[in-house]
Order: sequence, then C-alpha cells, then structure tokens
Amino acid sequence: MTETISATEPAAAGTPTFRHFIAGEWCDSSSGATFESHNPADRRDVVGRFQQGNAADVAMAIRAADTAGPMWRRTPAPRRGEILYAFGALMAQHKERLARAMTREMGKVLTEARGDVQEGIDIAFLMAGEGRRMAGETVPSELPDKWAMSVRQPIGVAGIITPWNFPMAIPCWKMMPALVTGNTVVFKPASDTPHCATLLVELMEEAGFPPGVVNLVTGSGAEVGDAIVGSPDVGVISFTGSSATGKSIAAKAGAKLKRLSLELGGKNGVVVLADADLDLATDGILWSAFGTTGQRCTAASRVIAERSVVDGLLERLERRTRALRLGSGLDPSVDVGPLINEGAVDKVASYTEVGRGEGELVLGGDRAEEADLAHGHFFQPTIFSRVGAMDRIGQEEIFGPVLSVIPVADYGEAMLALNQTRYGLSSSIFTRDVNQAFRAMRDFETGIVYVNAGTTGAETHLPFGGWKETGNGHREAGHVALDTYTEWKSIYVDFSGRLQRAQIDNQPG
Ligand code: NDP
Repeated sequence: MTETISATEPAAAGTPTFRHFIAGEWCDSSSGATFESHNPADRRDVVGRFQQGNAADVAMAIRAADTAGPMWRRTPAPRRGEILYAFGALMAQHKERLARAMTREMGKVLTEARGDVQEGIDIAFLMAGEGRRMAGETVPSELPDKWAMSVRQPIGVAGIITPWNFPMAIPCWKMMPALVTGNTVVFKPASDTPHCATLLVELMEEAGFPPGVVNLVTGSGAEVGDAIVGSPDVGVISFTGSSATGKSIAAKAGAKLKRLSLELGGKNGVVVLADADLDLATDGILWSAFGTTGQRCTAASRVIAERSVVDGLLERLERRTRALRLGSGLDPSVDVGPLINEGAVDKVASYTEVGRGEGELVLGGDRAEEADLAHGHFFQPTIFSRVGAMDRIGQEEIFGPVLSVIPVADYGEAMLALNQTRYGLSSSIFTRDVNQAFRAMRDFETGIVYVNAGTTGAETHLPFGGWKETGNGHREAGHVALDTYTEWKSIYVDFSGRLQRAQIDNQPG
C-alpha cells in the first residue's frame, strides 16, 4: 500500500487518481488496479481514476475499523455528535462544489444535486442532535429497591453499501446514525459514483473523525461489497440498491445472522381521483416521474386515474413533457439529465419495447441522440396510456423516465391497483375530498403516503422505507434509524441487599 498525503494527487496528466481511505490514510489498492468514472452526460469526460479494491483491502479496512471501535464507542455520544455537526457544517460550506461534482459524475440536474447535498446536511445535523438524546427507558421495577432501565449500545463495524442515485444523501443517511451511536464504518460506494464518495470522506476527515472510524474502499460490488458482507467482523450491513443484489446479500448475511437493513425497489403509484386539481396533479406527477430521470427509488412510474379525468390528465402530461429539455444537468436550462450508464439505457429501452406491446405509446420511447446528447446516456421521457395494472410495465421497476397511465373506475379499483405490486415504498393521492384522502392514508400499503403531492420528497426526520419487497422491515432516517445500528441492553440494579426473584417474590403465595 502506498501512503500519500492527499486523496487527489494526479497520477496521469489531466486525470486525477483517487485513493481508498483506511485507518486515517489515503492509500492505493493492493491490487494495483484502477477504474475510471465518467460523466454520464458526456462519456468523453473522465472524472477520475479510482482504486479497484479487493478482499485484502477490505480486510485492512475492517481491521482499522475494529481497532478504532473501543476508542470511538467510549467517546461520549455528545462529543461524537459534535463531530457530526462539524461535518454537516462543512458540507453546507462546500454545498455548491459538492453539488457540481455530483451533477458531473451522476448526471442529475444541479438543483436536484443541491437537494441531495442538503439531505446529507439535514441528516448530519439531525443525528448530531441524537448524540445528546439517544434515549433509552427507565421504568419502575416490579420489586422494591430495584432499578430498571435500557440503553442503546453500538453493534461494532458497520458495512455501508450504497447506490449511485443519491450519491451523497444515501451514504450520509447510513453513516450518520451508524457513527453517532458509536459504530465504526467501512463504506463501499457504487462504482458509478466513487468521486462523490471520496469528496464526502475528505470532509469527514476534516471534520475530525479519528483515524479508523470511517474507512472508504472503492471497487466492484462482486469483490469489495461481497467481502464486506462475508466478513465475520462486520456486525451490521446497510444496503440500498436492486432487489436482486439485496436478496443475495440477505442470503449471505442471514447465514451469519447479521443485522441487515435493506432499501430496495419501488413501483410507486399516484392515484388521481375525478375531483382532483389536474394542474397540481400534473406538476406532482412530472416531478416524481422525470425528476432524477426517473432514477429514484420513490419515483412515480404509475399513474392510476379515474376514467373521467384520464384524457384531461394525459393532455396536460403530454404537453408539459414535450417541453422538457434534455442535456447536461450543469446547464441551468436543462430539466432532465442522462441515465447513469449504457446498461441503464438498454434496460429502459427494453422496457419501452415491452410497453409497446402492452399499452399505447403517447410520446417518447427511444434513446435521445440528437447533437451532443449522442455523447451521453440520454433517453426520451416516455408515457404509455391504457396500461393494465398487472402488465409488466405496470409491475416491474424500470428506473428510468417511463410513466404508465392505468385507467380505473373508482377509488376502490384505484386502491386495489395501487396495492397490487410486490413493492411498497411510496404512494400518493390527488383529491379535494378529505374523506377520500383519509381512506388512502389508511389503505395504501406503502411506507410513505403523500396527499396532494407526488411520490418523492421525504424529509429526514421521519422514517423512510417500504413495505413488502421494498425492504426487510428496517427504516432509515428519523430517530428509528438508530434501531439498525444499536443493540438494546436492559439493566437491572438491585439495591435491596437480598435475593429478589422477579415474577415470584412479588406474587401472593
Ligand atoms: P446494485 O444493487 O447492483 O448496486 C448497488 C450497490 O451494491 C453498489 O454499490 C454495487 O456495487 C453493490 N453491489 C453489487 N453487487 C454486490 C454484491 N454481490 N455484494 C455486495 N454489494 C454489491 O444496483 P445497480 O447499480 O446495478 O442498478 C440496477 C438496478 O437496481 C436499477 O436499475 C434499479 O432498478 C435498482 N436500484 C435501486 C436503487 C434504489 O434506490 N432502491 C438504487 C440503485 C439501483 P457496484 O456499483 O460496484 O456494482
């Protein structure tokens, strides 16, 4: 391993090489290999070279995290919180630089990239406060002269495996609660966004996390991710990504009885009832369907509308979608950026082929390759009408700018269609009828429900996560996020000076 003083020393003219961060040092992979990260809006733009990590690098990072563990867990939680706070403040100070770097590497338009950074800041500040809360319970004992209470304790080393679609927010959502509760971290970011991850870890170093508390290893999921999941020394894994990868991680972690938090796919629906404000519904649907080019786990990919308003809604959606401008997210006049990579374009294209056989194509349906767009991974925003609730494009996660409109007779049919999916992350309803709104809040089988808003826009102080195959019951964000990263310890202190038997000595006879 070669130690260097900076993460960003240029190794070849023009293209900087970035390093792992292990035990407080920026270092090369023992593999000696690197990989490139590209701008998805223009493949000719190489963001940097990154270490192609391997199992030996992961072992070193886990050892560093394990070694730092006792020191970090004994650091008072309010002090840990202060370091989180310093990190959040640094993110705020560097917000514009971080957002621009994110747009370049991941593609989302700059306003959304700023929102992604802001989510990171919000969770850093929220979790910094947990350093002074982190409440357990103190309850009366059933016996005299006895004290009963519970406290949270860290699990140990947390493996953090993240996707590319929220390349700063999601790592922060995971690392902040892990760290404030006293765990140490081995962080493996998506191979499409290693620069975003490196920038975050640079700021974490500057904020004052001690050496070994945060470790970054870049490289493939198959090698780096798998080594983290397989290590007996990693006590908890937090993963966001595809259902297929989530299930394989769950099988491996389950065999070792590891704590595992999974945040997987979605097939989120917007219900539009006949009394809805159609202009407002159109705003919400467009933002949810085509924001981040449809690559959010909360993206709306289904609109379930009462038949009497389908034509009016489709007319509005089509007119507004035709006006969307595609291009580099760094250009302020652009509405929709590229997809993340060529594989994503192929996946979306194959689903639009399926859609042509199932519904009626309203607009879009092809790669966007005019002029400069040909250098990037662009796909036209696409709408299908007359889709059936059980059609493949109405059921499977496409993760791109493809919207299916499903006509229904009434609220009851809409509710059934909304719930007839294996996922359960987010949903929304547009109606002016308060009774219908409350029925939806009761009936929709999703972890998040919006009324008169689209399916995206979660705030960091409420639980985030889904029902059914969207996850495995854990939640991110909010104070419940602490549950993933802590063990409960119940403590009984008997100061009676004699043996007192619970359930026996306090019972008559
Ligand atoms: P993956 O689930 O494959 O990747 C997510 C993360 O897991 C990445 O860091 C990846 O590393 C890592 N990983 C991959 N394989 C393993 C493994 N065997 N063990 C441990 N870690 C692993 O998603 P993709 O990026 O390939 O996207 C494919 C589809 O997944 C999308 O089209 C979308 O449907 C869904 N997805 C959903 C997201 C959500 O927010 N719920 C986010 C991203 C994707 P590496 O990048 O090196 O492969």
